[in-house]
Amino acid sequence: TVQRARAAIADLTRSVAGFPAPGVVFKDLSPVLADAAGFAAVVEALSEGFDVDAVAGIDARGFLLGGAIAHRLGVGVIAVRKTGKLPPPVWSCTYDMEYGTATLEIPADALDLRGRRILIVDDVLATGGTMAAAARLLARAGAEVVAVAAVMELDGLDGRGEVERALATPVPIRVLVTG
Ligand code: AMP
Repeated sequence: TVQRARAAIADLTRSVAGFPAPGVVFKDLSPVLADAAGFAAVVEALSEGFDVDAVAGIDARGFLLGGAIAHRLGVGVIAVRKTGKLPPPVWSCTYDMEYGTATLEIPADALDLRGRRILIVDDVLATGGTMAAAARLLARAGAEVVAVAAVMELDGLDGRGEVERALATPVPIRVLVTG
């Protein structure tokens, strides 16, 4: 499965130099997700073996992956949203990413996440700021982040280190390819 996923990622990922800022190579995984075999392989490879109570997907491609992974694992899905989409009250976390800053939010009262074991999912792990912010938000809501998964980890940005620093205890960080 991982081999099939890696083959699809290698074949279908589109690299766009200079987007959304000079010096950044944007890794567009949309064609992988749009391909039936590619999507199935990626979802399977990112789900395999995880035992969790819920999956949290990060806005926006993390939603696509997170929903499918949650369904496969037989658990519910949580949307970690960009700012301004959720009614108050929210937990909010502002952070630096590869290009600029951003704010992520989750509902502060609509979900009872206390003690729930969560897998966080996104498409690309770059500086790790996004994943770390999601981990902090979920921890603030009382959840236990037990694993982190992304399709691709970008080399040389130490996204992994940033995620590790955001978590109280080390958890598995699964990525299918580095690029
Ligand atoms: P970061 O917080 O730096 O790890 O950035 C990760 C988030 O930004 C993910 O949600 C990605 O979708 C997006 N992102 C950051 N850098 C890139 C990149 N070079 N190519 C594609 N997506 C990226």
